Amino acid sequence: MTTPAQKRLLPTSTAGSLPKPSWLAQPETLWSPWKLQDDELIAGKQDALRIALQEQQQTGIDIVSDGEQTRQHFVTTFIEHLSGVDFEKRKTVRIRNRYDASVPTVVGPVSRQKPVFVDDVKFLRQQTNQPIKWALPGPMTMIDTLYDDHYQSREKLAWEFAKILNQEAKELEAAGVDIIQFDEPAFNVFFDDVNDWGIACLERAIEGLKCETAVHICYGYGIKANTDWKKTLGSEWRQYEEAFPKLQQSNIDIISLECHNSQVPIELLELIRGKKVMVGAIDVASETIETPEEVAQTLRQALQFVDADKLYPCTNCGMAPLPRHIARGKLNALSAGAQIVRQELCS
Ligand SMILES: [Zn+2]
Repeated sequence: MTTPAQKRLLPTSTAGSLPKPSWLAQPETLWSPWKLQDDELIAGKQDALRIALQEQQQTGIDIVSDGEQTRQHFVTTFIEHLSGVDFEKRKTVRIRNRYDASVPTVVGPVSRQKPVFVDDVKFLRQQTNQPIKWALPGPMTMIDTLYDDHYQSREKLAWEFAKILNQEAKELEAAGVDIIQFDEPAFNVFFDDVNDWGIACLERAIEGLKCETAVHICYGYGIKANTDWKKTLGSEWRQYEEAFPKLQQSNIDIISLECHNSQVPIELLELIRGKKVMVGAIDVASETIETPEEVAQTLRQALQFVDADKLYPCTNCGMAPLPRHIARGKLNALSAGAQIVRQELCS
């Protein structure tokens, strides 16, 4: 629907988060509390963003992001900025049918009183002329990270969030974002809801946008609850098969997937033929750094089902829980692996 953000063949990017420096938040931890406060925190986040950007640039990443240095968690930080959600009133719920977490409660109509990430995007935009990708949580993943005491309907709440996300996305676009990505790991779990209203809500969230749009569907961070869950999925992970036909028909431009070291049958990509695909070629659940050749092999497999001009090498998911030197090594491997395949395609 739009002009591509990146002209280079096989432009690399990350799915989202990068490790935070230890002076900003406890490393290798999700939901890690900030170590700074007030103005120091604002300055600290900006410094961390500069470092995350520099690491991406030095490792040859083409489409850059803030590495999620500006948020504590990919879902909760966005929700914290909305009214109608009480963070003091907490309930324990089961997240993605997988693990229990204490979450805030929806106590009234949800709304966005002010922009959430617009200042952060403007700051990142000032630092680079490279294409920028910015991640927001998807509506279905948002409702799965809350206890709803007001709407008492997952679908109704998701539509409300879709409207709010659309307001934010339009302002992010105006601030200079080239690709807006919605993180929807819940699409791998609630298949009936995905097809009944999940994808429709996502399309509501991107309504009227002129920049490119992506949806990231993964098997989660490399935390124990997720790796234990993966062990129960058997030898073939066919979850993507459930949502792909409708996603192929949707207005979403790019689909971001977990491919390397996963049990996803790569031929499922045929179901989204025609879409751009961010192919996860880096395993975020392992501290072993991939070799460039391993990355290249994953990309070659994907090329059987994705046209070369639509293939975006990427990580499987965010790298926030990894040690910094490991994440950096993985970014280098991603770039080097993409370069091997670029040369093969051009020779
Ligand atoms: Zn992910």
